[in-house]
Amino acid sequence: MNNLFQLPKITIFLIFLSSPLFSEEYVIHEPSTNEIKQPFQSNLLNSDEPLPVNARILELLKLSEKEQNKAEKLLPKILEISDNFNIAEKYLMLMVRANLVNNQNQENKVINWLNKALLMEDKMAYEQLILPDFNQIHLMLAKSYAQNKAFKLAYEQKNLYMDKYRDYRKSLRKQRLAKLNDKYETDLKIKSNELLVTQNQYKSVRLKETDKETQIQHRNIVILFVTAIVFLVLLFRQLKIRAILRRLSKTDSLTQLLNRRNLFEEGELLVQVAFEQKDELSVILLDIDHFKAVNDNFGHDVGDKVIVAIAELGRETMRPRDIFARLGGEEFAVVLPDTSHDQAKAIAERLREKVEQYDLSDYGKKLSITVSVGVASVTERTESFDEILNAADEAMYSAKSAGRNQVCSYIEQNS
Ligand code: GH3
Ligand code: MG
Ligand code: MG
Repeated sequence: MNNLFQLPKITIFLIFLSSPLFSEEYVIHEPSTNEIKQPFQSNLLNSDEPLPVNARILELLKLSEKEQNKAEKLLPKILEISDNFNIAEKYLMLMVRANLVNNQNQENKVINWLNKALLMEDKMAYEQLILPDFNQIHLMLAKSYAQNKAFKLAYEQKNLYMDKYRDYRKSLRKQRLAKLNDKYETDLKIKSNELLVTQNQYKSVRLKETDKETQIQHRNIVILFVTAIVFLVLLFRQLKIRAILRRLSKTDSLTQLLNRRNLFEEGELLVQVAFEQKDELSVILLDIDHFKAVNDNFGHDVGDKVIVAIAELGRETMRPRDIFARLGGEEFAVVLPDTSHDQAKAIAERLREKVEQYDLSDYGKKLSITVSVGVASVTERTESFDEILNAADEAMYSAKSAGRNQVCSYIEQNS
């Protein structure tokens, strides 16, 4: 029975051996050294692409080396597709055949089949031929040659094996290098993308910062502008207050005439100019007669109104360049630049008349006012405004002594 079961295996093996792939017409005689080298040399020029190899053929090749029984089982299935074998697969199948007869001391057949495979090399890609599965053909041949004591041929096959092995290692290194380069390029691309992203982020942050800086600048400009306006407003207010204070310090609050202090300042200046330029200058001093009685009879308020009325009359009578001031109480003084003594006396007289004629009935029915006036002018001996004012004062007291309501002259008194 066992023999009966063995039968199909043997049959398959016989079919295998008789298939066109393994027919004797493919078997060639032991090749010369040149014939063996030929495929290898021509492959250097071969530019064909490596051909696809059915994985089962590779499996079969492995089995045919060490586990021939298993190889024989697998063989029929693979032979079913033998019509579609490409040249690389045919090459491997020849190696399978060589392996299967190897143990049967048929070195010549092994050599023939392997050489037949080698003849196919010029039609195959060199990169494929240097692959270990293909390259081991030279080791197989070397072994068979050695068994046949053809040591030189065995040596040549070993050399061919070594050459291809070296090329295979080179190609592996090249592939690894290419992979590394690819990886490096990919990493580089990733890194540059990351850099771009970071740069963009930086740009957007910078843009935001610039916006913020612009906003701060605008805000600062507004603050500066508002501060400047506030400062100017305060400055104008301060200047206005100062002007008011200056005016107040110069003027008498009741009559708005120049006050005593300013009269002395300006009077001194005008006297100096007149003295240096030898110009004429006169001073009038005026005092309301019996003013105490006005206050007593009509009240202090009426007294004030009378003072204001006299100031108004004086302002009307004087020229713009004259200085009309309230000396204090009910006394007034006038500095008249470019005015001779006679002209001053005339002005004083006009003013006295105006006061005398002034209608004060609004303030009190029986109210009438007169003034006593003293006039003095600069002479060659005059040294200060104080001096000339004293002279006018003296003249005014003369007018009082003379019965009031009159104009007296200092010069006239001395003359
Ligand atoms: P005389 O004719 O000699 O000058 O007599 P008089 O009364 O005018 O002189 P006297 O110096 O005795 O009096 C001046 C008065 O003027 C005393 C004071 O009460 C009053 N007087 C001074 N200043 C003011 C003022 O601003 N307002 C008022 N209503 N009275 C004043
Ligand atoms: Mg007086
Ligand atoms: Mg008086």
